[in-house]
Amino acid sequence: MNNSFTLAGVMGWPVTHSRSPLIHNHWIHQYKKNGAYGLFRVEPQHLESAIRGLSALGLAGCNITIPHKVSAMAYVDWVHPLANRIGAINTIVVQADGACHGFNNDGYGYIQSLLEAQPDWQADAGPIVMLGAGGAARAIAVSLLDAGAKEIRIVNRTFSKAEEFAHEFGPAISPVKWEEREDALNNAALLINTTSQGMHGQPALDLSLTQLPQHALVSDVVYIPIETPLLIQARLRGHTTVNGLGMLLHQARPAFEAWFGVMPDVDQALYDKVIQTI
Ligand code: NAP
Repeated sequence: MNNSFTLAGVMGWPVTHSRSPLIHNHWIHQYKKNGAYGLFRVEPQHLESAIRGLSALGLAGCNITIPHKVSAMAYVDWVHPLANRIGAINTIVVQADGACHGFNNDGYGYIQSLLEAQPDWQADAGPIVMLGAGGAARAIAVSLLDAGAKEIRIVNRTFSKAEEFAHEFGPAISPVKWEEREDALNNAALLINTTSQGMHGQPALDLSLTQLPQHALVSDVVYIPIETPLLIQARLRGHTTVNGLGMLLHQARPAFEAWFGVMPDVDQALYDKVIQTI
């Protein structure tokens, strides 16, 4: 019996689409770790016992994905303050005493993906326009605020959710009606799509970029396809673009570090491997 074997995985329902095993097993191999990362199909009614069982089974922890990111918070012993503000966890790290600690690295992953595309990117470079007010938007908005963003215009189809954002996260957030999304692009430094529009099987995001300044960075959290119609439009106008794959890959890094003891790099070989599955 080798006690240094480290086991982790991802809990979701359904979960077969997850790229996390590919990512973490790539790093396990790259960093010559003795361990494995698997898929755990966990129905919502079994989530609590699955999380409580992590420590008993000797797992280092797990990722949490759809639809469990919010409900899992109730079943861990401690939630990181950032994850508390986001209102969801995507990572559990089992502590030496068996306690389960919950984290959310989605916003970290998003910001790292921007820095990868533009190393001198700064959160306070100018107004940020974010389309969508769902789970991904919450993680990204909180991280942008912590990074120093001064103004985030939240444009959402259901306006009341954008208003709730402003109420919850303070005066740096301004809610914008969906019909006013193109005017909101005026003098923006960063545009982010966090809606599912543009995803494979969904209509393209209905947005003309005419009013967006030429220097603005354009990003999309959707990564199937890698280059969404929004990113194609932006690239053709000369904007620097950031696809959703970087967020997916970078959010995995702090979890790998917590479980396996090495902060892994996101290299081209990993990008290529994941792109082959899309
Ligand atoms: P969510 O919580 O369900 O939020 C969906 C958002 O999209 C809401 O703001 C919703 O507006 C908006 N929306 C949906 N249909 C729309 C339409 N027809 N027109 C305009 N807006 C529409 O979902 P989520 O978890 O935030 O995920 C959103 C996207 O991010 C998904 O495509 C997901 O795959 C992607 N994602 C990527 C990563 C990554 O690592 N790259 C991580 C997480 C999520 P309403 O409020 O009006 O319904």
